[in-house]
Amino acid sequence: RECYRILGITPETEPSLDIVIARSHPEDIELVRALDQSIRNGEPLIDGTHRLLMPSGEVKHVRFVARRSTTSPEFGQKYVGALMDITGVVAAEEALQRSMSELAHVMRLSTLGGLATTIAHEVTQPLAAIVTWADTALSWLDRPQPDIQEAKASIEQIIIDAERSTEIVKQIRAMAQKREPQRIAVPMNALVNDAARLVARECRMAMVDLELELHPNEASIKGDPVQLQQVLVNLLMNAIQAMAEIRERRRFLKVRTRVDLHAAARIEVIDSGPGLREEDAHKLFGAFYTTKETGLGMGLSICRSIVEAHGGRIWASQGNPGAVFHLELRLISEGAS
Ligand code: ADP
Repeated sequence: RECYRILGITPETEPSLDIVIARSHPEDIELVRALDQSIRNGEPLIDGTHRLLMPSGEVKHVRFVARRSTTSPEFGQKYVGALMDITGVVAAEEALQRSMSELAHVMRLSTLGGLATTIAHEVTQPLAAIVTWADTALSWLDRPQPDIQEAKASIEQIIIDAERSTEIVKQIRAMAQKREPQRIAVPMNALVNDAARLVARECRMAMVDLELELHPNEASIKGDPVQLQQVLVNLLMNAIQAMAEIRERRRFLKVRTRVDLHAAARIEVIDSGPGLREEDAHKLFGAFYTTKETGLGMGLSICRSIVEAHGGRIWASQGNPGAVFHLELRLISEGAS
């Protein structure tokens, strides 16, 4: 009865694949045919989702689950299954994704606010360098015998610094912007380099040695560069903050990238802070868990949502002596070194 109701057909109608196809969303007909083929192939478990397009124009999301129950001479192959209307679930998931992406945006703005001095420095430093190079170029040209070669070299430096500041502004604008998450190839090492550059000054101010140990080959992750960057900056800032109280040992922060045996991208953020208690390692990723006086406790929760939306995993473990945050993300390619 539920099937008839979902498909919007009268109970007198003879059930057939054609009826389901007729109701299926044109873009999903291939999916329905593939499900039918799986049944014909006698696969033990069938599980698939697709859309229906009702005569009224309404789109329904359905999930079809069936299990092969018997193969008897009398009935041949028999499946027992159910068709479920999951339109509400899909809509709720989409709304959740939207809220997540808005929350991530708000948190990015708050991170950028926290990085304001760094950002100001990152932009003004190349500008100051440009002025110095321009002065140098002028003095090479102002000589009785102008040195064109030296002047040219100074002007080339101006271009490099101008490009650097443009890059920084671009990166910051991307982080401040609100837009739909993208799915593009994001080079893993470039991601780490960019994030490291953003926190380099925070490290210097907090007397933290930042070290990168990068996988020799360029490997790319499929995802949203801004969101992935947000995850890394968050982990790095957390580590810097966690080490604030450490006096008796070197404060070091290391980011390691590698490709593991299962060809997944692995990024590890290792610090020499107070570390984690085993029982807290899970709690950290829950919303509103914070041990900081002014903390919101949303950073890691958002990191997890972002990573999971990318089909990856994030977890924390006790290092020696500090904490290690692990990221595992799907790789799309590994180029030659
Ligand atoms: P917030 O930074 O606002 O506290 P997070 O979700 O980013 O929120 O972090 C939650 C908590 O996880 C922190 O308050 C801290 O107790 C713990 N934590 C995060 N990173 C580290 C780290 N590198 N070392 C030790 N504890 C950490």
